[in-house]
Amino acid sequence: MGSHANGSTCAGDGPPPMEKRKEPAFPLKTMPLHANGWLNDMKLSSPTAVPVNIGSNSVAFDPIYRAWTQKYPSALNAFERIVACGKGKKIALFLDYDGTLSPIVDEPDNAVMSDQMREVVRSAALHLPTAIISGRSCDKVFDFVRLTELYYAGSHGMDIMGPVGKTGSVTDHRSRGTNSSKKQDKEMQIFQAASEFLPMIDEVFGLLVDKVRGIDGARVENNKFCVSVHYRNVNEKDWALVARCTDDVLKAYPRLRLSHGRKVLEVRPMVDWNKGKAVEFLLDSLGLADSDEVLPIYIGDDRTDEDAFKVLRGNKRGLGILVSSVPKESQALYSLLDPPEVMDFLKRLVKWKEEEEAQRITVKQLLVSVDDFRVNL
Ligand SMILES: [Mg+2]
Repeated sequence: MGSHANGSTCAGDGPPPMEKRKEPAFPLKTMPLHANGWLNDMKLSSPTAVPVNIGSNSVAFDPIYRAWTQKYPSALNAFERIVACGKGKKIALFLDYDGTLSPIVDEPDNAVMSDQMREVVRSAALHLPTAIISGRSCDKVFDFVRLTELYYAGSHGMDIMGPVGKTGSVTDHRSRGTNSSKKQDKEMQIFQAASEFLPMIDEVFGLLVDKVRGIDGARVENNKFCVSVHYRNVNEKDWALVARCTDDVLKAYPRLRLSHGRKVLEVRPMVDWNKGKAVEFLLDSLGLADSDEVLPIYIGDDRTDEDAFKVLRGNKRGLGILVSSVPKESQALYSLLDPPEVMDFLKRLVKWKEEEEAQRITVKQLLVSVDDFRVNL
């Protein structure tokens, strides 16, 4: 597990690995566009960010952004409407990590969440079943979040971990080796969607590291069930080169596919699994699948989060909140501007939940008092 950064040509033009000769185990279904088409997708997936010195308030008052929020209302402005949907229900919370709980940074290893955000997420988890769903490996995202109260679905949901003793009706418990003793005590692996792909992913990680070695700013990260090729620090004139190098490697692996994140190409197993499937798995496994009793809320900023938004939007099962300072089409119902707004939303959600629980306790106490009164009559 690890990542490699590099310093301007496609390198590693060695012979194709043996895998090239293997036939796919199942029909090709969603093989992505050829590298020539990737460049357009890379630009669409990586809209120009709003400069930091403009400030979020300025963005919020930008007429184009404001027009966009007519279609995707701010979850802060629509807070009362959102919690009205959750009244009397259990709210299940699903949170992406990068760009949602932590700022997007040039160096992926520096995507640290603030202590304040950590405390807010911890408070949320005390009241609501809460899961982090990330493209990163479980170990990496846990090292950032460091909360044992949560469920973690790493590698786009292909590796799901839960807190010991809180696994609900999940039955597929397997012991798990990990480098993090703190995590080992508290967490258990509950599902892996594509464990047979682990050797292949390691192999492709090594090949991609060699292949993009000459591209200044390119960085390859091993996220256990997926390999991320970051081009955030690559000059845009070299993006096509990143796409070509990645395509050169992928040609030999028909069982792997590519998806686009924010200035990152994600190589992952061609299995029918994504963040949306992970949300469904967790809801089913934790006994939270009944939409009459549970309102799932998913907050994320990335194209890969759209699978989850779509699952929740279907049958009006729950609601998605897109984190974006740039207008874009989404399956989400609501929006938030940036991680600080995510924190504000979570704080309000926790406060609302605490007040709701307090009211429930008061009503219960009143009923007990009435019963006692009747008995004593
Ligand atoms: Mg993200």
